[in-house]
Amino acid sequence: MSEIRFVGVAMRYPTRRGEVRALQEISLTVPDGQFACIVGPSGCGKSTLLSVAAGLITPSEGEVRVDGKATDSPGADRGMVFQSYSLYPWLSVRRNIEFGLEVKRTPKPERTRQSSELIRLMKLDGFAEAYPKALSGGMKQRVAIARALANDPQVLLMDEPFGALDALTRQIMQEMLTDLWQRYRKTVLFVTHDIDEAIFLGDVIYIMTNRPGRIRTTLNVDLPRPRTFDMVGGTRFAELRSQVVGIIHEESMKAVESE
Ligand code: ADP
Ligand code: MG
Repeated sequence: MSEIRFVGVAMRYPTRRGEVRALQEISLTVPDGQFACIVGPSGCGKSTLLSVAAGLITPSEGEVRVDGKATDSPGADRGMVFQSYSLYPWLSVRRNIEFGLEVKRTPKPERTRQSSELIRLMKLDGFAEAYPKALSGGMKQRVAIARALANDPQVLLMDEPFGALDALTRQIMQEMLTDLWQRYRKTVLFVTHDIDEAIFLGDVIYIMTNRPGRIRTTLNVDLPRPRTFDMVGGTRFAELRSQVVGIIHEESMKAVESE
């Protein structure tokens, strides 16, 4: 059981000119094994929401619990993948993936077994001894995902992990991630501003309001699993897309008007 539960979370950032209200009244539960996506206009508080779950920031009100345990500091139970590549440049691909296992003092044969499996699954064969600077953006993010999974976290928190990639690479990454999820069934909280990405990956999509971010709508994605790319061209996909686009458009207009 690995659920993520937000209870009445609000976040206000103190600034010199007063407070920025980033989040308000966020209460939601991502049940065990669910892939939940958060979408919303830029600046609505998506990264803030994920940072609270990660324990990187302390909310002004409320709390986040993973399996009932308060997330008041970062922990190995929560694997994180961000947009910017956060690999250790001085470590090889294999040692990047094994980093958390080394910290936990997992014996070397077991470390090697796990990293080899992830290297194979993430199609990084032949790059185990390469250093991050020799890798493409997509490969770096595959290493980052492998590293997060190697720790065997209870939940995965992902903040626009494919945001910096070109459209084709992005599609391939989405396919790999959905396959991986099918295999490991982690509870995932995935932030994106890409609507197709949210529909393709998610079981459920939380659409946020303009800042201060609240959950405006919860949409169940009733596309069958496993997800395949031909679904993106399908009728149901198009219907879901137009629903989400409509709501986000309204919220983005509000953002522009309040500027
Ligand atoms: P998103 O990820 O949806 O684009 P963020 O969570 O990054 O949104 O930011 C939400 C709002 O909070 C934005 O208006 C942003 O400028 C503000 N914000 C984020 N971090 C800070 C901070 N450390 N100090 C002050 N304001 C912040
Ligand atoms: Mg963000």
